[in-house]
Amino acid sequence: MSRKYIALPVSTDTSASRKFFILIPVLPTQTPLLLTSLEMLEPSTPVQYVKGIGPRLAEVLAAKDIATVDDLLHYLPFRYEDRLNPRSVAELRAGEMATVIAEVRNSGLFRTRRMPIFQLTVGQGRTRLKCIWFNAAYLQGRFQAGQVVALYGKVEEDREGELQIVQPQFELLGDINEEGGAGAAEKEAEKRAAASLEIGRIVPIYESTGQGKLTPRWFRRIIRGALENLNPNLPDAIPAAVRAHLSLVSPREALWKVHWPDAGESFADLQSSRTPAHIRMIFDELFFIELGLELKRREQKAQTGIAFQLNDGVREAIKKILPFHPTAAQKRVLKEIAADMQTPSPMRRLLQGDVGSGKTIVAFQAAIIAIENGYQVALMAPTEILAQQHYFSARQILERAGYRIVLLTGSLDEDRKRDVRRHIAQGNAQLVIGTHALIQDRVEFEKLGLVVVDEQHRFGVMQRLKLMKKSDEPRVGRAPSPASERSSVVADPEPDVLVMTATPIPRTLALTLYGDLDLSVLDELPPGRTPVVTRSLPDERAPEVWDFVRKQIGAGHQAYVVYPVIEENPAKTEEREVKAAQQMHRQLRDKIFPNLHVGLLHGRLDADTKEHVMREFQQGKIEILVATTVIEVGVDVPNATVMVIEHADRFGLAQLHQLRGRIGRGAAKSYCVLMRGGKVSEEGERRLDAMVRSNDGFQIAELDLELRGPGEFFGTKQAGIPSFRVANIIRDRELLEAAKREAAFVISGPNAEISKEETDRALREMRARWALSYGLVEVG
Ligand code: ADP
Ligand code: MG
Repeated sequence: MSRKYIALPVSTDTSASRKFFILIPVLPTQTPLLLTSLEMLEPSTPVQYVKGIGPRLAEVLAAKDIATVDDLLHYLPFRYEDRLNPRSVAELRAGEMATVIAEVRNSGLFRTRRMPIFQLTVGQGRTRLKCIWFNAAYLQGRFQAGQVVALYGKVEEDREGELQIVQPQFELLGDINEEGGAGAAEKEAEKRAAASLEIGRIVPIYESTGQGKLTPRWFRRIIRGALENLNPNLPDAIPAAVRAHLSLVSPREALWKVHWPDAGESFADLQSSRTPAHIRMIFDELFFIELGLELKRREQKAQTGIAFQLNDGVREAIKKILPFHPTAAQKRVLKEIAADMQTPSPMRRLLQGDVGSGKTIVAFQAAIIAIENGYQVALMAPTEILAQQHYFSARQILERAGYRIVLLTGSLDEDRKRDVRRHIAQGNAQLVIGTHALIQDRVEFEKLGLVVVDEQHRFGVMQRLKLMKKSDEPRVGRAPSPASERSSVVADPEPDVLVMTATPIPRTLALTLYGDLDLSVLDELPPGRTPVVTRSLPDERAPEVWDFVRKQIGAGHQAYVVYPVIEENPAKTEEREVKAAQQMHRQLRDKIFPNLHVGLLHGRLDADTKEHVMREFQQGKIEILVATTVIEVGVDVPNATVMVIEHADRFGLAQLHQLRGRIGRGAAKSYCVLMRGGKVSEEGERRLDAMVRSNDGFQIAELDLELRGPGEFFGTKQAGIPSFRVANIIRDRELLEAAKREAAFVISGPNAEISKEETDRALREMRARWALSYGLVEVG
């Protein structure tokens, strides 16, 4: 429904740099509300006004995130059926998926001892084909001889070697009354028109929804109707030059053809979402995401940062702390970081490196650059244990060189916290290590120069954008210094930000999630590491595993036993993990390893105990550490060479890889044993298999993405990855790179190829979409 609005300014305060308006819909007064004006659909029109939907079905669709006409038109077919050139029964081959259109001959239910089987025989002339459905008494009476039916399913041979289709999806053609919607009330002509959408063409197949109420056929009719009534002059917010670079079709053509492909369209392209219509829709989605990230990136760059000096003194200081020779990758990455820090624009850099690649020391070196320039550094970790661990190594490496370091975590008592905060505010503390929440919330720095965020992958892109935004609105604030009070004109410079992630994100995904950051990659492990040997064993073989652990400890090494539990509710998960780990700890300590020191580490222990346990493990006093997944990130004890993971099959690949990253950190050969109990799902098997086969985090991450889809990649629901309507970043990686390239090109405009109006229009569209999809996140 097209509407007019008047904009009323809300605030009369003319000094405000921004004005706010309320939009009031204006109903056409001269012309009464005509049907025609109702029927003309705009992308933003609520779906309930689409013919055949109404308020009740609109609610059903809302559950599928379909609120507007635009959402509806982005509900793409998940496959297509070629009902223009359907297959003849004679050419079917066992093992293939096929669409067959044929006439119903007869059908019936056979009761076998195991279950009732419904059998349908269809025919094309004299050839016949059998279809069967298991446990399908409900199909009785559905088919009448003479009806024409479209069948889709896997062709198999039965016991006699005859071809049959097992459990096919089916549609009775021309049987429009079968649907709830319009049904009997519909006029004969409309019925025929609807039926013509079913045969003699390539037919879109949609996933049914609303407990099967909204069938593929229903979607076909409704989407077709929406397309017919859609405003034919859809504006295209993608600049002409970009369209030309990629030979994009118009939005209108894309919408039509993605649902109703031309007869000549390549079937392979359709099934792989590679028709020009698909490409346009996918690119469209990715382009505006990348445009937002690119803009964000430019804006961050345009802010005033700190130009750190890198003179010989600083270089010397950086080298002095190194306890080992840096790898070539570490040198290269430090150079990239140092170059960024020297420029006056604020650094926004992602350091990506597989577990154990040695990110910490690089972060310490960057910290020294800032500290030597008279600035403070904040190092934030996602867990208290990791913060403590960083504090521990910072003291070993940096305190020795004379730097002043403090630890700020939630479990410090209030007096101590106040004390630490004072040190930070007065500038005594040069390096502040703590958990994200704590540092972000209420810490004032005297002169903050660099923020390092460790294990960034625990946070999604949206959270990160918010986090960075907060650092704009000095949430990571500074104590008001007399100088800055006097000269309130000069804003404090933006601190540099280095985010580090251990989850090896494939490059394509990194481009999407971190499109606003520059990327550095540590693609080399420190020397002398032998790849971890990984085995997957059933629970029954636990005694052998414990024997092996005993031998390794006899040889002077240490071991982890990890007891992870998965549950919907994170609070509950932790509880169960803790319980399981406690039980396990008791059993291992008392029954299995009575002569060894078995420690226990989990998130519910108080900070002192945690620190104590970690220290004892680090010093080798604890030989076997029973732990929950709290040790997943960052924990670093090179002498530990064995990790036994219980119920490993229930875990995501990324998490297993992170856990395994705790071992193989020293020169000695390390072993990871993945235990599995009971019935393991097929996907679980594939994950274990991948772990056994590969030590390469990037490979594992790619596979994980394929198995689980990007939404679950990070193992958490709050990952904050933009959810895509039509794109799939694994399948569409090339379009993603193209979108990134084109976004950069548009932002650098206007130029000979792009006018100012086009750039502005693209940016307006991008803002509208970001506001819609990502709520609060503000871009530009
Ligand atoms: P991550 O990248 O997973 O954070 P860490 O920074 O914890 O990795 O480093 C893993 C281990 O490798 C640590 O014990 C660290 O001291 C060691 N390490 C890092 N760089 C080197 C190097 N160049 N040579 C030898 N050991 C190194
Ligand atoms: Mg680390």
